[in-house]
Amino acid sequence: MSLSLHQPIAAIATAPGRGGIGVVRISGADLAPIAEQLFDTPLTPRHAHYLTFHDQQGQAIDAGIVLFFKGPHSYTGEDVLELQGHGGPAVLRRLLERCLQAGQPFGLRHAQPGEFTQRAFLNDRLDLAQAEAVADLIDASSEAAARSAMASLSGTFSNLVNDLADRIVHLRMLVEATLDFPEEEIDFLEKYQAAEALQGIQQNLADVIRQARQGMILREGLHVVLAGQPNVGKSSLLNALAGDEVAIVTPIAGTTRDKVVQQIHIQGVPLHIVDTAGLRDTDDTVESIGIARSWSEIEKADVIIHLQDIRSHNDELDGAITQRLPARTPVLKVFNKIDLIDETHTRQLTTGGPTNLHSASSTPAHQDGNANLDDVKRGDSRPAVLEAASILMVSAKTGQGLDELRQRLLDIAGWNPGMESPWLARERHLTALNQANDHLSLAAEHASHNDSVLDLFAEELRLSHESLSSITGQFTSDDLLGEIFSSFCIGK
Ligand code: GDP
Repeated sequence: MSLSLHQPIAAIATAPGRGGIGVVRISGADLAPIAEQLFDTPLTPRHAHYLTFHDQQGQAIDAGIVLFFKGPHSYTGEDVLELQGHGGPAVLRRLLERCLQAGQPFGLRHAQPGEFTQRAFLNDRLDLAQAEAVADLIDASSEAAARSAMASLSGTFSNLVNDLADRIVHLRMLVEATLDFPEEEIDFLEKYQAAEALQGIQQNLADVIRQARQGMILREGLHVVLAGQPNVGKSSLLNALAGDEVAIVTPIAGTTRDKVVQQIHIQGVPLHIVDTAGLRDTDDTVESIGIARSWSEIEKADVIIHLQDIRSHNDELDGAITQRLPARTPVLKVFNKIDLIDETHTRQLTTGGPTNLHSASSTPAHQDGNANLDDVKRGDSRPAVLEAASILMVSAKTGQGLDELRQRLLDIAGWNPGMESPWLARERHLTALNQANDHLSLAAEHASHNDSVLDLFAEELRLSHESLSSITGQFTSDDLLGEIFSSFCIGK
């Protein structure tokens, strides 16, 4: 990879398909010779030139705008050329081919996904969290997510992380200096009010962790699987939640033979809902493949909605399904079609009247703010409240109970509606913040002992600093960088 970093790169930067304009972008240390091959006119940096783009034989490919950004004042920090033509796939392909041809003697090659942004990172135009925000802004599926990604891109998150890191470095400097004069060791903590300074950093870090958790939910969303017997209304519920017709709804059992994934948003939080083939014993080969896939989706879910027809709830097969659901995953037991039974019956069911609803009705998840997906994802022991399935009564037909279902899903995601989510965060950010926090706690422990050992205190500060710095990319392995940038689209 290091060798090819010296090569100029080119790619179509706009989305595939038809569009008003399309852009071919080139980046390299010195693009003047390539520009000379492509255009008769010399290019003035940061000026829009209206030019005709010719192929090697001098035939016109297109006419459009050329922009030249002289490095380091460009997105990548290198020379950048942008050719804006008409946004058709054939014309852009020809334009890119022409650029690659003209640039061949200078080593011009196709860009890898994310390679422009990777160069921007390596040339210090962006830090790693900002580079990730570029991809997140492009991928944002809701306005809230786009706003938060933009905040990350403009450095809101990085500034907070850098501020914490600077304060840790300051404390480290004091400790390291004291370590050089061992006779002062005893006084150090008091003299520099190190314990108080550390406490302040810990408090601010805890705030950042809380906000990052919100930001991560906004980015990652929740993977919800709709499971249940055929005909209980899984597709209808998906449609009702999605607000349009995404799954085929028919009264014939076994219609949904494969999964349908629909993304919906609740308060800006993306929910990826998978509608599965109805779970039942069947001799139909195609259907049984669908059912096998359903179980594999269930294994991967963040939360399972076990949907049942209220008129035949908790029958033998539902009991068998309940038994087979993975114990680590939160389950919402949802009874559908309440419009088909009378109100007294519903009340009896919800109040645990003379029905066969079992103990699963204990505590609804939302009564315990701590019991959420985050705990489960972190691998903490399963919160007690999630061990019992929560119960809800809905009608996919009339919409009754759906608001509560939406709210319950947000609760399980750990979404805190009252809290702002100023930036988007990734799981890797949260892991690094938690690690930094753990090291600060260990440092505080060392500091609290009478015979506090300063070098251990200093070491924990160093590790905490290292964890924080991995967020902005100061200490990040090449493998991780490769993984991050390879998930970008080509041309970015
Ligand atoms: P799936 O096999 O579990 O996906 O079930 P469908 O969504 O295909 O629904 C099966 C049948 O039940 C269809 O005829 C739906 O119109 C009907 N249905 C679904 N939900 C409701 C509901 O809440 N009330 C009533 N009355 N009918 C429903």
